[in-house]
Amino acid sequence: MRNTLAVSFPRTGLPVFGRLPRYIVAFLAMVSIIVQPVAAQSILRDAETEALFTDMVAPLVEVSELDADEVDVVLLNDDQINAFVAGGQRIYLYSGLIETADSANEVQGVMAHELGHITGGHIIRFNEGVKTATGITILSLILGAAAIAAGAGDAGMGILAAGQQAAMGKFLAFSRVQERSADSAGARYLSEAGISGKGSINFFKKLQNYEFRLGIPQEDSYGRTHPLSGERITLLRDVYQKDPAWDKPSDPAIEARFKRVKAKLLGFTADPAVTLREYPESDQTAPARYARAYAWHKSAYPDRALYEVNNLLKSAPDDPYFLELQGQILLESGKPDEALKSLRRAVQLTNNQPLIASLFGHALIATEDTQYFDEATQVLKAAVNKDNRNPFAWYQLGVVYSQQGDMPRAQLATAESSMLQGNYAAAIRSSQIAMAGISENTPDWIRAQDISFIAKAEYERNNKRR
Ligand SMILES: [Zn+2]
Repeated sequence: MRNTLAVSFPRTGLPVFGRLPRYIVAFLAMVSIIVQPVAAQSILRDAETEALFTDMVAPLVEVSELDADEVDVVLLNDDQINAFVAGGQRIYLYSGLIETADSANEVQGVMAHELGHITGGHIIRFNEGVKTATGITILSLILGAAAIAAGAGDAGMGILAAGQQAAMGKFLAFSRVQERSADSAGARYLSEAGISGKGSINFFKKLQNYEFRLGIPQEDSYGRTHPLSGERITLLRDVYQKDPAWDKPSDPAIEARFKRVKAKLLGFTADPAVTLREYPESDQTAPARYARAYAWHKSAYPDRALYEVNNLLKSAPDDPYFLELQGQILLESGKPDEALKSLRRAVQLTNNQPLIASLFGHALIATEDTQYFDEATQVLKAAVNKDNRNPFAWYQLGVVYSQQGDMPRAQLATAESSMLQGNYAAAIRSSQIAMAGISENTPDWIRAQDISFIAKAEYERNNKRR
């Protein structure tokens, strides 16, 4: 029996890297990656959520003239209502913000504002701080493999830790001038993309109410870094209302997807009791079933979780994300063979979405049936090529290589995953063992050598810092 209890993330006190395995979550399609600023934070990775965010931000990115490939929306597992930009063109949204928003349109208002910070070059002004924080951010993202490697075997997905993120705080301190400029740029993007500013106003009003009612801590809250005032809202409303898009309804397909993502996010992050209160059995809508499926799975009731997912699949048999969840529940309740069909189909339907593919790879390996190992290798290789922030796949790749007796390549995969964890000593060791077993100057050998060089440099840099 695997641990299927909810893992709560400490809000204070930094779990050290070496203690990470404690934070492994072994049950959901979402991957958590701890980034750990003052309060521990984790990045949530989920195929469906990322696809939705990409589609939500795309029309705004287009009119902002930023490069769509460069803009990235990252979800943080943190119930504060917050969002910020860091690391170049990366927008961080807190799960608390998603849960607070009642529509995709509200979140698009936030996205537009954050894009305004990017195009305004507000980040560059932090210069030295940027470097630090960027380094930390990237490190955090890459670090993924950590927990995965550490938590090993059962970790359906892992939580990865990175170090301190203190420098991030600098980025939260935008000046009022920058806020105004981001507001007006955001309004322009909404307008040019033909998206109503109604959601933006609703959300700002909501924030004001929350601040007032709940006394959200000023330190990190959206309200603090984004000073809200009646004046600001009035100003924005004046701009938005004149826009032809003001009365334009939000895209119903996007809104429907948002409801699902919001539901699964609650199911994943909240105490199951909270989820079941929010989405009671009497609610037979797809988002409600979706949320309950996560809640039940999280509470170690795979049968109830499957009941909800099977119902979802009755009306949408080719929904890749329902299939993904079905496969995951089966896999994590000890039935990898039964999980294969749904996961294989989900991978096909999403054209090899790397997060889903790595789950499929995991299931193939978990069958312990050697006939699946070649397929697992192919699937996982494709996954790491497509998404280098998916260290779980590296870990699985190492497992399958080692089971096939290819120890040098198992070491190379381990080296990749150690790099991602920031465990440079281990990366040096593994990459050197890999080099010893691989023919010189082949691509794999060169890769091992690269890792070895980079790991050594990082290792020395870290030691100097201490
Ligand atoms: Zn702002």
